[in-house]
Amino acid sequence: MASRPLREFNSVVKNSSKVDVLFGYCYPSTYRAGMTGLALQILYSALNNREDTSCERYFRFQTQSPALSVESNRPLRDNHIVGFTLTYEEDILNLIQMLEIGRIPILVEDRTADDPIVLVGGPVVSSNPEPYTDFVDAFAIGEGDLVVHDIVEAVRTRGSRNESIAALADIRGIYVPTANPTSVSHIMIENLDSLEYPVAQVVPDVEEGSKLEPVFGKSFLLEVTRGCGHSCKFCLVGHMCQPRRTRSLERLRELVEQGIKRTPVKKVSLIGSSLGDLDRLEDLVCWIVKQGVEVSVPSLRADSVTTGLLECLVKGGQRTLTIAPETGSDELRRSIGKDLTDSEIEEAVKTAESAGYNSLKLYFIIGLPGETDADIESTIRMIQGIARNSMMRITASLNPFVPKARTRWQLEPQPGIEVLRGKIRHIEEGLRNTPRVTLETLDLRSARIQAALSIGDRTLGQVIRAAASYGGYGGWRRAEKETGIPLFSLGSDPERLGQGIPWAFLK
Ligand code: SF4
Repeated sequence: MASRPLREFNSVVKNSSKVDVLFGYCYPSTYRAGMTGLALQILYSALNNREDTSCERYFRFQTQSPALSVESNRPLRDNHIVGFTLTYEEDILNLIQMLEIGRIPILVEDRTADDPIVLVGGPVVSSNPEPYTDFVDAFAIGEGDLVVHDIVEAVRTRGSRNESIAALADIRGIYVPTANPTSVSHIMIENLDSLEYPVAQVVPDVEEGSKLEPVFGKSFLLEVTRGCGHSCKFCLVGHMCQPRRTRSLERLRELVEQGIKRTPVKKVSLIGSSLGDLDRLEDLVCWIVKQGVEVSVPSLRADSVTTGLLECLVKGGQRTLTIAPETGSDELRRSIGKDLTDSEIEEAVKTAESAGYNSLKLYFIIGLPGETDADIESTIRMIQGIARNSMMRITASLNPFVPKARTRWQLEPQPGIEVLRGKIRHIEEGLRNTPRVTLETLDLRSARIQAALSIGDRTLGQVIRAAASYGGYGGWRRAEKETGIPLFSLGSDPERLGQGIPWAFLK
């Protein structure tokens, strides 16, 4: 048997023969990306806290094999349930490759009584599961931690594989395509304080800067909120996860106290959208710093930045302020539903610099519906203005607009690739002589694939299957040609939804 390649804290190994249910938690990308996600920690802990279940993890890259668990080299196909979190649309190819390498038939129709049940959750499939139905026995729509115990019970107490799948179809929030339901509910918890939460989180035993280190570093992940109180027209979180729910300050403190005792790290990473809206964020951050650990927060809304909050974050080791103006144009920003003004953004940057921040990350979307050349000029002027008035290093991330199912802009077309390229060139030229500015752009081909998979229907299963057999971007192109399905232009076709909305049955 191969040796165990990774050393970790808080991983759990049980005797497989002493439990009823074997659950393989799979992340269809790198170990590093998977270990950054909160879903892994929550589900891993909930499943292993059950005496009757053993959950072990599998990753597509950076581990010994995608078909062997990190914990004990348990073969993927030995599990009763193989559960994936799909965070990015394109990772569907990695998911299929993991099944293939693990000797699990990739198509639902080819699976037999001896094969594991393939379950997929996460934001991509909660928004639109239809392109993936050929490969998936059951989808979790919404917040999977609400149904994880029902899933285990359905498999534990039913006899055959088919009976277990039929039982899954009866669970609210589970979508079994072969059951042909007319509607499926998106499930969400009302009171976050009532949920169990992992305080002994799994972290790799690696040096700082290792390729295996999670994106936020080795830290205790503290979920503060779910959902968002705003509703920007392009944003999945703002539509699918309404209303915003928040843990109480008392509960958050309790979790930090237990978390830093049980997870051997020196940092707490706060998780949640639009955290600055939280009444007592400053109290929470300053209190965490007083516990003697570092602290980091994700992007903050510019209108929620205060001197006290930023000073505590600097004491807690954070030196980069991340904000998402989306566009440099006040008017376009209002029209996309983001109620932030240029002056609030400028003020936030000034406050950050005086508090001791030395770098700034700005997120912009290019190709927004209604965007003009003048709006692109406004984005250039905004970045130039910030660079002129501060000494911070600036990284501006330019991301193409991707229409997402279940948002107000689900029917808006993505501009063609040449149009997007032109907009990026325009910004690059405009900022050529601006000091301390670095531009980052998402691969435009990737944005085209994401758009198609976001709003596509079941016919895309054919393209996905062919692309998985070739791999890479070339594979997607080849698959498009072979199947005759216009994948790369689907997101730009205003007529594409003329036949109805594939995800309309999600409630
Ligand atoms: S873009 Fe940010 S503020 Fe707007 S809805 Fe999404 S998470 Fe909320």
